[in-house]
Amino acid sequence: MNLNPARLPGQKSGKPVDKPVDKPVNKPVRLTDKYHREFPYLRLSVTDVCNFRCEYCLPNGYHRSHRPAVLTREEIRRLVTVFAELGVWKIRLTGGEPSVRKDFTEIIDMVAHIPGITTTAFTTNGYRLLANAQKWQDAGVTNLNISVDSLDPARFKKITGHDRLTEILAGIEKSLELGYGSIKVNVVLLKDINDSSLPDYMDYIRERPITVRFIELMQTGDNLAYFRERHQSAQVMRTALVKQGWTENIRRNGAGPAVDFTHPDYQGAIGLIAPYSKDFCLACNRLRVTATGDLRLCLFGDIGIPLRDLLQSDDQMPELKSRIITQLEHKKSSHFLAQGKTGLIPNLSATGG
Ligand code: SF4
Repeated sequence: MNLNPARLPGQKSGKPVDKPVDKPVNKPVRLTDKYHREFPYLRLSVTDVCNFRCEYCLPNGYHRSHRPAVLTREEIRRLVTVFAELGVWKIRLTGGEPSVRKDFTEIIDMVAHIPGITTTAFTTNGYRLLANAQKWQDAGVTNLNISVDSLDPARFKKITGHDRLTEILAGIEKSLELGYGSIKVNVVLLKDINDSSLPDYMDYIRERPITVRFIELMQTGDNLAYFRERHQSAQVMRTALVKQGWTENIRRNGAGPAVDFTHPDYQGAIGLIAPYSKDFCLACNRLRVTATGDLRLCLFGDIGIPLRDLLQSDDQMPELKSRIITQLEHKKSSHFLAQGKTGLIPNLSATGG
């Protein structure tokens, strides 16, 4: 495996341009970009493999390609340790489907106990949740996001290719019983498929302290035709919510991009994630690392910054810190999805959304 990084942004020739940090390397530095946005939140993909065939992402299922092996636990430990020293306190473990990794529980346990990390979250399709909810909570997961694109079993099967809605909902019930810190259900908003299902999800959260988030379908490298047919603006949901007396909440520090709504008659909340809405990226607060160790400054960015060559020994941590800080200068103000620019991302499984 060639660990020498390809040419980095801003690099002219020869050895990568990692500007030495003139601050003592053990003094945490806050990761801030030139738009004064801070990045306390890292989304770390631990695998690009997924066992589902969601029609908006991997309609033909996952096909192993000639990619390098995924990061080892030692490489993940070094990576997260350095990000924590750079002020990151929230880690979201993503995939593909992260729980397909055989050592997933060990990864949770390791990441959740790295100094500085106070929130360990993960996003899952839920297929292993019922059997593992207790184990993952014991290992250190506090925040759970589960993808449930329909509460109708037949429609769920059509969207995901799997007839597993019942066991996934049972896994969510188990997680509620266990008292996870935060449980959210992600719903990719699909025109003429689930855009009329708001009442079903409202019933679902009437007695459950769960946040259901409707996420606008995003264009990626591989789904243009599907995107054109199924993209629906989240505005339809916002209009319906306001009409029924739901109130928009103030966004908390470190929170994701969702705009949340609550209603006194419901224990749960409804969130809207609208990447196509104006100013969506003003509050960007997250960075991503792929399962093979590339830093992504934006989900739809057109640069991948290799970090793996600096994850091979603890002595390299100061250099890794410098590279992350230096490269953050290349972060753009926003995505350019409105111009149809989807960057490097062929599908959401590639970087875990
Ligand atoms: S699209 Fe890119 S810039 Fe915008 S919020 Fe997401 S990661 Fe940040």
